Amino acid sequence: MEIAAAVSAGERSALEVVDEHLDLIAQRDPELHAFNLVTAESARAEAAAIDARVSAGEAVGPLAGVPLAVKDNMCTKGVPTTCSSKILEGWRPPYDATVVERLRQAGAVSVGKTNLDEFAMGSSTEHSAFGPTRNPHDPSRVPGGSSGGSAASVAAGFTPLGIGSDTGGSIRQPAAFCGVVGMKPTYGAVSRYGLIAFASSLDQIGPIAADVSGAAALFDVIAGHDPLDSTSIGDFAPTASAVLDEGVEGLRIGVVKELSGGPGGVPGLAVDVLARAAEAVEVLAAAGALVDEVSVPSSTLGLSAYYLVAPAEASSNLARYDGVRYGLRVDGPTSPEMTTATRTAGFGPEVKRRIMLGTYALSAGYYDAFYGKALKVRTMMLNDFARVYENFDVLVSPTTPTTAFELGTRTQDPLTMYVNDVCTIPSNLTGHPAISVPFGVGDDGMPVGVQVLAPALHDAQTFRVAAVLEAAS
Ligand code: GLN
Repeated sequence: MEIAAAVSAGERSALEVVDEHLDLIAQRDPELHAFNLVTAESARAEAAAIDARVSAGEAVGPLAGVPLAVKDNMCTKGVPTTCSSKILEGWRPPYDATVVERLRQAGAVSVGKTNLDEFAMGSSTEHSAFGPTRNPHDPSRVPGGSSGGSAASVAAGFTPLGIGSDTGGSIRQPAAFCGVVGMKPTYGAVSRYGLIAFASSLDQIGPIAADVSGAAALFDVIAGHDPLDSTSIGDFAPTASAVLDEGVEGLRIGVVKELSGGPGGVPGLAVDVLARAAEAVEVLAAAGALVDEVSVPSSTLGLSAYYLVAPAEASSNLARYDGVRYGLRVDGPTSPEMTTATRTAGFGPEVKRRIMLGTYALSAGYYDAFYGKALKVRTMMLNDFARVYENFDVLVSPTTPTTAFELGTRTQDPLTMYVNDVCTIPSNLTGHPAISVPFGVGDDGMPVGVQVLAPALHDAQTFRVAAVLEAAS
């Protein structure tokens, strides 16, 4: 990255870089609310330490002095970590998440913790207990979610890099809405040690950046084995930065019919978004890719399966917030009444909805009909995608059905919010990597994102294709 190169060479001071970005945040974040907390003091101290090491002739990392925004569902030692929930009020983690630690080692300077939908449940950042984040391109619109704060931070120029988590689209969808690059790695490619769990079979941490090379640099730092995460892949070697110039000549690219407005596909895809996706496909074909349409019939079932699997896992993961172990406690005459009072006061309406949905889907008598059925759909999708990848290297689709919508327009009916994830969810259910790259704007002038999907472990491939789209747009 440019900043890191200049800082390492002693041409720019990391402290000056960080101060410039902190100034921008001070000016505009009161309006946008990308951050739950700005850690200006520790950021300046870290930057000064990097400058001192450069002066002393010591080596600094590949992201030296680059300001970073960290989603507030990742643990930061001694620094409040809220998940944008009242239930974690006052809690300070005793340790750093592995990604936070790796990024610090690489020289990135965290300037704060970014807003999200409470416990990462949502697609607009409106479900935050601390108020919504606004889209830097048009503050009357949402930035997407749940990593809306990190995406908005990058789009506003507050930080060149952001970290998000993606359970059903929470990196890619806000990246698309904010006109930045966002990538969900293969399940297990990036350590989740210190990520507060939402749905453990789906959650992944990934990069958000202003451009593809920034996202690749960030990915290469955070990916790779971590003994502290039992789902971490043993020998994953990230190579995203190395393949950015390889082009797409001869690459077999499939356009997923069901996610691209084809008959029998998902309803509600906007015409302008589909037009940009079609133009992206033309760019890839012109660059020498072998493009063909392909049907992945089960992809349309992802939405229903996800909204059973994710709440089921969430209902179990969120059982730990009992008023004893973390954060908020509202007292009651007995222990169960204390727990009930704590959870009633601490969780917002969307989180409660998910816990109830998940508990219901797992309950005796309904398990087979709901959770069991969803798992079968998940297996079917894995088989479908495996078959398709026999003939294709990557797949493309729009990232989202529409561009960013106005605040307040989808909070009343949860289903209108859930359909945002229709194109992103398949990659979470299969555990495959996928990237969203900005490609033009919609009729409303708002950014459009195009998604590139690849089979497991082929994360680098998504960056390679995204680089071609970025160069053309
Ligand atoms: N929008 C989806 C949900 O509400 C996905 C969220 C996420 O990826 N964390 O569950």
